[in-house]
Amino acid sequence: MKSIYGITLEALEEYFVSKGEKKFKASQTFEWIYKKRIKSFDEFSNVKKDTIELLKKEFVFSKIKLVAKTSDTDVSKYLFELDDSNKIEAVLMNHDYGYSLCVSTQVGCNMGCKFCESGRLKKVRNLYTHEMVEQILAIEELENLRISHVVLMGIGEPFDNYDNVIDFIDIINCPKGIDIGARHITVSTSGLVPRIKDFMNHGKQVNLAISLHAPNNTLRDSLMPINRAYNLDMLFEVLREYIKKTNRRVTFEYILLDGVNDSKECAIELANLVKGMNAYINLIPYNETSHIEFRRTPQDRIMAFYDTLKKNKINVTIRREFGRDVKAACGQLRSNYEEAR
Ligand code: SAH
Ligand code: SF4
Repeated sequence: MKSIYGITLEALEEYFVSKGEKKFKASQTFEWIYKKRIKSFDEFSNVKKDTIELLKKEFVFSKIKLVAKTSDTDVSKYLFELDDSNKIEAVLMNHDYGYSLCVSTQVGCNMGCKFCESGRLKKVRNLYTHEMVEQILAIEELENLRISHVVLMGIGEPFDNYDNVIDFIDIINCPKGIDIGARHITVSTSGLVPRIKDFMNHGKQVNLAISLHAPNNTLRDSLMPINRAYNLDMLFEVLREYIKKTNRRVTFEYILLDGVNDSKECAIELANLVKGMNAYINLIPYNETSHIEFRRTPQDRIMAFYDTLKKNKINVTIRREFGRDVKAACGQLRSNYEEAR
């Protein structure tokens, strides 16, 4: 049986049509599950019995299990247990513009970035579409609020789980579904060039963020193994195409690692790399973890790096820090939890 939270409106329409039913039954179903948040087919009071039987024959209501929550000012972190007892996390941030949820897309990650906890844990499996949707539903229900922004920056490489992630985006973006505006959704990738191309052709107005973290191939090779498959030349070629075709701005994420990628030379090299592009750089203070030897760049040198980029007329921001105390960086809760057991 499939989860009702894993199917797009279009696919559900096709299902109904294939059974000789009217297409609009799919919108009706979406209305019940996403607008009214009803969790049983029998409660669809304006839907005919045989339609309900059709739904019951194919779908079930699944629910992700919350096993731990930690909170700090303006941030909460949730640990979920999946049906096969794998664990993932989501992080809720309270911004002045609304609630933003950072969702996980895989159990672990195979990209092996040297600074990242999720990479250290290796990929166990992809998340199903419904497991991503349920992160949103569970937190909205638990906290009695509406999430206005979604970032795919939790555990996992979204573009290594491409089809499920695209369905997830379709469902949460669908006006008849959870209805989160495309411009309020951000996908972050370490740079899987072919999938960036697919994403460009998909045509959704979703924000794209690239984990850059180094301004040249030698350094990026040493931090992010994916760079050996898709180097900066290939990455920037596809990004230039993406910007031209979609008319959208790209975000570059750049973690500052003490003594590794935070020198003035690196800042200048970075400025030259992105100069003239419709892009901006988000500098990320590194969240240190006990298993990885990288250290965060001290504040004064973060500022110096920022100033160099500014002087070179680059659009740059420094990421506001959430949840350092609740270990809200990529993958940290899960590994802490597993160690505690
Ligand atoms: N796999 C995707 C999305 C998840 S990671 C990607 O890499 O883009 C989300 C962001 O968190 C990435 O930019 C990643 O490099 C960053 N990140 C990973 N570990 C971190 C840490 N310890 N401190 C700060 N940022 C971290
Ligand atoms: Fe995977 Fe992203 Fe972590 Fe790299 S930074 S290991 S791609 S989750």
